[in-house]
Amino acid sequence: MAGLNGGADAARVAQVYRPVTSLGPGRRLGVWFQGCPLACPGCMSRHTWDPAGGRELTVGRFAELWRAALADGIDGLTVSGGEPLAQAPALAALLAAADEERRRAGSAAARAADLLVYTGWEPEELAADPATASALDGADAVITGRYRAGQPTRLAWRGSANQRLDLRTALGRERYAPYLDHRPERPELQVQVTEGEVRVIGVPRPGDLGRIERELVRRGVTLRETSWRP
Ligand code: SF4
Repeated sequence: MAGLNGGADAARVAQVYRPVTSLGPGRRLGVWFQGCPLACPGCMSRHTWDPAGGRELTVGRFAELWRAALADGIDGLTVSGGEPLAQAPALAALLAAADEERRRAGSAAARAADLLVYTGWEPEELAADPATASALDGADAVITGRYRAGQPTRLAWRGSANQRLDLRTALGRERYAPYLDHRPERPELQVQVTEGEVRVIGVPRPGDLGRIERELVRRGVTLRETSWRP
């Protein structure tokens, strides 16, 4: 497995956004780590591969954003990427800060906000490197495994059939057990339009990105480049 980057004070991130409604249950704060050495063929997030890209998010700033999200009734945090374990110290620090803030929160709902992390590492890779894998210890649920374009799935929030939803805490089991085998008719996808950029948030099925692109063209939006084509 590739070497680890960065310290525990800050993460390099591609994006922070809320509400995310397509990567985990309810309304969530989403943090996408920047940098991924795994290079899965068919990855829709190639813009997150370069470890020097994105921007810095300090743990202190993250705690502020998460505190505000909790006060606003958010249901959970989703950390995706990129590959969060490529910045394991920062991931551990963010999860620790998220847990500390939710424990301090005034409402029971905020204290029950869950922490979900996506990693491309396979379960056997996690088992072989417990020091790095321990960065996931603060998560209530973890979705593991590379994206494999040749193994499509209808399972909620998973991009390919090999990916596993690993429930790690009582809160994780309570919140996610109903979704272990849940296969929604259509995955929820969010299309976020910002200045000069269109981002798709969620886990599309084969053909979904092409359909979104054609719909954008129909509405007069032409994509000069996309993060899902080499
Ligand atoms: S699918 Fe995830 S793990 Fe695979 S290359 Fe893309 S960002 Fe990395």
